[in-house]
Amino acid sequence: MVIGVEKVKDWLESVKDPEVPVLSLRELGVLRDVIQHNDSSFEIIITPTYSGCPAMNTMEQQIREVLKRKGIENYTITTVLHPPWTTDWMDETAREKLREFGIAPPEGSADKGVLFGKEKSVTCPYCRSQNTKMVSQFGSTACKAMHRCLDCKEPFDYFKCL
Ligand SMILES: [Zn+2]
Repeated sequence: MVIGVEKVKDWLESVKDPEVPVLSLRELGVLRDVIQHNDSSFEIIITPTYSGCPAMNTMEQQIREVLKRKGIENYTITTVLHPPWTTDWMDETAREKLREFGIAPPEGSADKGVLFGKEKSVTCPYCRSQNTKMVSQFGSTACKAMHRCLDCKEPFDYFKCL
C-alpha cells in the first residue's frame, strides 16, 4: 500500500485538542502541513497556539501514537514558531464547534491582551450576549479563562490561548 500525504492527514484528523476534544489539530490550525520527502519519510509541521501551551506535548504525543498505530516510523515532527499561530487559522466550522462545546471562540484577530490581564468583551456561547464578565484569569485549564454571562447567568470558558 502506498501511503501518501492525504492518508496521513486523514489519520491525524483523529488527533484532537486535549482541552477541546471536539476540535482536531487541523481545525485548530495547529497542524500546519504534512510533507512527504523524496526518501518517502514524512514531516509533520505543527505550530503551537502559544509557546508554553502545556497541551502541546500531549498533542505531539498523540500524533506519535497515531503514526505508530499505522506503522509509520519514518517521520519527523517539526515545530514552527514563525509565523506565529493566529486565531485566523481557526475556521468558522471550528468556531461553531467551540460554541457548541460551551466555550466562547476567540473574537476578531489575534488579541493577546487577555493573556496579560486586559479585559475584553467576550460573547456568551449560549445566548450570544456581550454582557459578560471575566471571573477568573484561569478556567478549567491554563488555556482558558473563566467568564460568566450576566444575562443568562451561565459560566463559560473563553479560549484565550490566542
Ligand atoms: Zn448568556
